[in-house]
Amino acid sequence: TVRCRRHLADEAATLAFGAQLAASLQPGMTFYLEGDLGAGKTTLVRGVLRALGYGGRVKSPTYTLAETYSLPAFELYHFDLYRMHDPREWLDAGFRDVSDGRAVSLIEWPEKAAGWLPPPDVVIRLTIADEARDIECEAASPRGAQYLETCCT
Ligand code: ADP
Ligand code: MG
Repeated sequence: TVRCRRHLADEAATLAFGAQLAASLQPGMTFYLEGDLGAGKTTLVRGVLRALGYGGRVKSPTYTLAETYSLPAFELYHFDLYRMHDPREWLDAGFRDVSDGRAVSLIEWPEKAAGWLPPPDVVIRLTIADEARDIECEAASPRGAQYLETCCT
């Protein structure tokens, strides 16, 4: 499997790594973002969006489950499923479009909807390391492997 690991010394490093991930994104890719509360998942998404030219606020969709960003090249869905109690909420919220092949999905707490989500291309795990963070990206599809070889070597 293709994997890459980085030490992220501060918030700026997380944002910069998000920009690195953004550069090679292709429509239709799905990312799972794993890690404890406060690990930096939303910060990473903010780094991705900033790099793609989105200048507005990036808030955590903790209560709404999802936030949609219409970018020039594709729609980006940012999910935070932390508060999801029943996988049916995923369907009720009308997230079927997620697998239509065009949108990029970044999904925090994917384990809350296990079995209902589109399969990931890349699984990203963030861990808290004292004042800093460690990040590991692992390819979960051929496209994900190609992607990581491009943007993360
Ligand atoms: P999550 O979405 O995983 O719950 P957030 O991104 O909302 O986490 O917030 C994590 C907190 O950690 C924020 O206060 C952010 O500034 C901080 N942070 C992000 N990356 C780093 C880093 N590499 N080192 C130290 N602090 C970081
Ligand atoms: Mg978050």
